[in-house]
Amino acid sequence: MIPAEFDYVRPRTIDEALDALADPDALAIAGGHSLVPLLKLRFARPSALVDLADLGLRGIRQDGNGLEIGAMTTYDELIRSDGAPAALRECAESVGDMQVRNAGTLGGAVAHADPASDIAAGILALGATIRLRSQSGPREIPTSEFFLGPFTTARGTQELVAEIAVPAQPEGSGSAYVSIEDPASRYAIVGAAVAACMDGDRIVSCSVGLTGAWAAPLRASALEEALVSDGGADARRLAEMLIPEPDVGGDDAEIAYRRHVASVVCVRALERAAARGAAA
Ligand SMILES: Cc1cc2nc3c(=O)[nH]c(=O)nc-3n(C[C@H](O)[C@H](O)[C@H](O)COP(=O)(O)OP(=O)(O)OC[C@H]3O[C@@H](n4cnc5c(N)ncnc54)[C@H](O)[C@@H]3O)c2cc1C
Repeated sequence: MIPAEFDYVRPRTIDEALDALADPDALAIAGGHSLVPLLKLRFARPSALVDLADLGLRGIRQDGNGLEIGAMTTYDELIRSDGAPAALRECAESVGDMQVRNAGTLGGAVAHADPASDIAAGILALGATIRLRSQSGPREIPTSEFFLGPFTTARGTQELVAEIAVPAQPEGSGSAYVSIEDPASRYAIVGAAVAACMDGDRIVSCSVGLTGAWAAPLRASALEEALVSDGGADARRLAEMLIPEPDVGGDDAEIAYRRHVASVVCVRALERAAARGAAA
């Protein structure tokens, strides 16, 4: 299929990009791995594509407060970076194939908001914040309030994802991501990222990000609270009981299957995160 006609602009500064994106029919393009197929199928018919390549939004900076990941950072760069929490690296390693990891960007994944996005689970579990820019100024949205539904976020159409800010994790913390993947696309059928802070064998705080079986990636808040009250001793039973019911459709058997698999991957991620936290 051939895309409908569009203009192409490659701004040199964020302000120029925001000017171009002020046109409500213009779209940003990052790695193009999600957008180009939509253009070819004519599901997206933008007036202009605003290429974000030259805006200096690429790279990972670390300071005392945590990590700032530029929106144009690719999965591959995240995997190769020093100091990224294990859950984020494992999310990125789970994405597609080498081509997708080389060109696909974190900002593109966050803006696209596929309900099965791997990285969404990781940034949810790590309590990240999405930093947006528009002509009205900068704005920050906690990841837990960002993903609203399939391919739908709290981002305005003219807002640019500029950075993902991942707070420093407390001492004694570990994180992990485990998923069961579709063998063809490698998208998560179900994936769980866990960040846990440990005192010896006991969980003192914990957050769980889920992806794949819900209309949008989400936190398993009831499970997190129960794991902390229980200290982690009865994690398997709590996960079976408290993982939110999948809502991506399918019959009762499929929903029950995905819920069970979600509890399994969640417990595996918890065990790995807890072991890393205890060794930290
Ligand atoms: C074969 C294949 C397999 C895949 N497998 C997986 C998988 O296993 N797991 C997984 O999670 N994902 C998978 N993906 C999806 C992949 O993660 C996304 O395509 C990619 O991350 C999107 O990033 P991009 O840079 O390519 O975004 P683009 O395709 O360039 O853009 C996607 C959307 O986001 C908007 N956008 C991009 N950047 C910004 C920004 N900074 N600010 C505002 N809006 C922006 C664009 O306008 C567009 O609407 C797969 C994709 C392919 C093609």
